[in-house]
Amino acid sequence: MIRQRRTRIVATLGPASNSPEMVQELARIGVDVFRLNFSHGAHADHAGALKAVRDAEAAIGRPLAALADLQGPKFRLGNFAKGRIAIEKGQALRLDLDPKPGDAKRVQLPHPEVFKVLAPGMSIVLDDGRVRLIVRANGKDFADVEVVSGDALSDHKGVAVPGAIIPVPAMTAKDRTDLDFALRIGVDWIALSFVQHAADMADLRRIVNGRAAILAKIEKPAAMDDLEAILDVSDGLMVARGDLGVELAPEDVPVAQKRIVRAARRRGVPVIIATQMLESMTSSPSPTRAEASDVANGVYEGADALMLSAESAVGTYPREAVSIMDAIIRKVEADPQWAGLMRAEHGPDADEDVDALIAAASRAAEARSTACLVAYTTTGSTARRVARERPLLPILAIAPNPRVARRLCLVWGLEPRVASQPRGVAAMTDEAAHLAADLGLAPPGSRVLIIAGPPLGAPGAANLLRIAHAPRARPG
Ligand code: PGA
Ligand code: MN
Repeated sequence: MIRQRRTRIVATLGPASNSPEMVQELARIGVDVFRLNFSHGAHADHAGALKAVRDAEAAIGRPLAALADLQGPKFRLGNFAKGRIAIEKGQALRLDLDPKPGDAKRVQLPHPEVFKVLAPGMSIVLDDGRVRLIVRANGKDFADVEVVSGDALSDHKGVAVPGAIIPVPAMTAKDRTDLDFALRIGVDWIALSFVQHAADMADLRRIVNGRAAILAKIEKPAAMDDLEAILDVSDGLMVARGDLGVELAPEDVPVAQKRIVRAARRRGVPVIIATQMLESMTSSPSPTRAEASDVANGVYEGADALMLSAESAVGTYPREAVSIMDAIIRKVEADPQWAGLMRAEHGPDADEDVDALIAAASRAAEARSTACLVAYTTTGSTARRVARERPLLPILAIAPNPRVARRLCLVWGLEPRVASQPRGVAAMTDEAAHLAADLGLAPPGSRVLIIAGPPLGAPGAANLLRIAHAPRARPG
């Protein structure tokens, strides 16, 4: 199965989608990467979801990636006795440390460090900005607040105190436990929330130690100021617009999005645009015009992937959300304007041999009789460098290790497959051309461009560009 688009789709799994049947169906409709959100659900749920992803991969015959998203030091409300309360402007409410389920008068906020920094007159923002409270009085284990805006609160909604610096490490005790678990079950990507500095990612990288690729969620103003250093130590970025939009004004978020996407693209680091892309589809079978435009604009920006959150995790229409996202992406990628925009965003060359080789290959790929590019990649680095050039042809990325192939599912334009690189240039050329033909990427007789290095070379050691032709008839 080959995707008919370059931009990738990430879908968050949850009660609405984590059954084996549903995971397989969503993968068929278009999901490339499944996100396991460790802010919700038990370890057993995530292990079950991962198994469903691996089974779906076997069923559809195409690599699929699983991304474990660590909650990070996000502050959340406790539970409500009825799961949810209605609120109205002017209403008084108490936040405290009592784990007893909440009601219309009080609810738990299980973070003593938050109470420490509060003062009367400060704002508290909940549920991605849907609810705003103002502190009227507080002590070391409670705060009496008044509702400024919003109409409901429900279990575990996020809590932020814009402007306040709450002294917490990048990874909580829960994150450490979740990280151990995620690595043990063998996810492909680990995302860290509320990254503030490159050091947060460097710490994560040390712990993960190559067992997964690591992704920095950019959702704090501090991270915006340290973007280049964060890119040095991250394998991917996420524009986490939900929390970014809590800390920044709404008008700042689109500008931040463009800056993050551009910075990541220049480096050839995959970047995901996340949150509220098709939000209304959580409860409606079709998107708003503005949502359709938002998805389209992400594609025009050249982001590697677009993400569904509540739409696929808890919504009523997960299939429809994936299928609409797929349709919008394909429409944009068929627009002649889009091709021009991909080229305009082309990053500066690193002036290494491999970049010179890849630049030559993508120029050669513009010839009409060329059907696809094939990149042999041991660590994934060569394939990512090819994708960074945004060539408009399909890129078959062949990796010997299934773990590498899965990580590449997040990258723009790559069609990852698992196979080892044959020894000898003739055998490799022949096999690449046959593989591209068998997958339907190269019609009989069409040109295939192959980029490769020594079979067990150092990362980015590609030094060979071969032209092959898809076989006219497959013998046997
Ligand atoms: P979250 O991250 O869904 O884990 O909060 C994404 C975001 O903040 O946009
Ligand atoms: Mn977030």
